[in-house]
Amino acid sequence: MSPDPQIELVADQGRTLTTDQSSCPLEVRGLTVSYGEKPAVFSVDARFPSASMTAIVGPNGAGKSTFLKGTLGIVPLLAGDVRFFGLPFKQVRADVAYVPQRASVDWDFPARVIDVVIMGLYREVGLFRFAGTRQSARAMDCLDRVGMQDFADRQIGQLSGGQQQRVFLARALAQDAELYLLDEPFAGVDAATEHAIVSVLKQLKADGKTVVCVHHDLSTVIAYFDRALLINMRKQAEGSVAEAFTPETLQATYGGRLAESQIDELRLGLA
Ligand code: ADP
Ligand code: MG
Repeated sequence: MSPDPQIELVADQGRTLTTDQSSCPLEVRGLTVSYGEKPAVFSVDARFPSASMTAIVGPNGAGKSTFLKGTLGIVPLLAGDVRFFGLPFKQVRADVAYVPQRASVDWDFPARVIDVVIMGLYREVGLFRFAGTRQSARAMDCLDRVGMQDFADRQIGQLSGGQQQRVFLARALAQDAELYLLDEPFAGVDAATEHAIVSVLKQLKADGKTVVCVHHDLSTVIAYFDRALLINMRKQAEGSVAEAFTPETLQATYGGRLAESQIDELRLGLA
């Protein structure tokens, strides 16, 4: 049922409430990942405060996806320390939902939409047990939140890209996590889907959850996010959008590939 190791499920080990909600949802020090000789992410320090919504921004190949995968241990770290709510990932994994970049998921595996969402309920269902009526109702509720309730019985592979993205967000919602890490949730989706996903994410934040998105569309950073982390292998800036999303940091991150006029336009929303 789970051909992609990135979306692999973990059998319910019996949930222990280890999460200290007062500590920082995600704190990273010196995170370094290398696939070969040259690091993809080099010595990045970052903090993602509670109830914030952060855009991770940078050009293609800047190491954004690698950064998220490194925090989750999906790729090995060359160096660095990562704490989720003050603890190592394996102790809090039920509190962390991850939606990988859509291109990285095998969409051909045979599963109904509702089953994909029920997978998010592994805290309750466990890997080899069948979901009961209560779990199905919870899963339907999550599909409803992303406007996909009418597609519950469809095969996931038969949906459009935007619809698949909504289903994977529904699965993350079913997990009822405290921290949501999403890799380009708006890539290749239509405007209606983008709007639906943004509303869900903003509601999560309003409920005190923490949201981190790799985000490639500079024109919506200010409207969608309250914080930004700019990276291009190294960290270029971090902080509130007003502090971190400046002409200087954008030039540093994009290496002069953005025209002055483009940058002025992007920052209009802050005026
Ligand atoms: P981004 O998400 O910012 O576009 P990535 O984190 O995917 O960037 O990639 C960062 C760099 O690491 C790129 O140069 C990319 O080619 C390389 N890279 C990513 N994944 C792998 C991998 N599995 N093996 C080797 N190189 C990789
Ligand atoms: Mg990426």
